[in-house]
Amino acid sequence: MIKRVFIIALIISVVAACSRKYYPPVIEKHFIHDTVFVNVPPIPIVPPATTNPIDSLLYEVHTAGTPNFNLRKPNYVIIHHTAQNSCEQTFYTFSLLRTKVSSHYVICKDGTVHHLLNDWLRAWHAGISKWGNITDINSCSVGIELDNNGKEPFADPQINSLLVLLDSLKKSYNIPTANFIGHADIAPRRKDDPSIFFPWKQLAVKGFGLWQDSVIADKNVDSSINPMFALRLIGYDTRDSSAAIIAFKRHFMQKEGSKVLDEADKRTLNNLYRKYLY
Ligand SMILES: [Zn+2]
Repeated sequence: MIKRVFIIALIISVVAACSRKYYPPVIEKHFIHDTVFVNVPPIPIVPPATTNPIDSLLYEVHTAGTPNFNLRKPNYVIIHHTAQNSCEQTFYTFSLLRTKVSSHYVICKDGTVHHLLNDWLRAWHAGISKWGNITDINSCSVGIELDNNGKEPFADPQINSLLVLLDSLKKSYNIPTANFIGHADIAPRRKDDPSIFFPWKQLAVKGFGLWQDSVIADKNVDSSINPMFALRLIGYDTRDSSAAIIAFKRHFMQKEGSKVLDEADKRTLNNLYRKYLY
């Protein structure tokens, strides 16, 4: 209950802060998501001069506003393993200001789902990352941490809870199937989570992420396709080609370490990149 009140208060403060600076008095009540109503006090038609450092242009006076806005909704889901030894350790890490890390959800080994931060707010889970041309993944994603030290299989109750959560997120925010990816996919030079134990195929069968066809016919192999082009088209940051290959193989081949694409890897890559075209 306390957490819920805190989240609502935080949303109120965000919306109210924006409203005081930018919006005319027609706004009296905002509908946020499906649960939170926010009352906003009357606002002068011409707001005072702003020195808001987070605005893009520091106009002296805002002479016009608009009541048409809401918070931004997630369009990606990024999956992590915590690389810690317990949920309690992760909660402690996320509670400290100095760590500057957080996620929307933490799922423990017994399948308990902890919702730490409202989906519409921006958690700090992705860090410096890139997928396609998106370079601020935190602004458009939900982050899910799975309690796992990175060297062990994921517990069945944990994955079952994850699947339920993903189903809810996908429906709530209309998240495209291809947009369920891992931290290592978006930060291949820095991160290796989730590990090769993560059941990406099981997720893809349920509609969360893409997966290669079970039988890849030789006719699907187009040897003229540059592997880096295919990786880039999928979304990988290929400025470091070795890191991109390792990340691809970790996710789609469930293999760790090798910087070389063998024939099976190439066939899979050629089969997969076509799926990302649509
Ligand atoms: Zn991570």
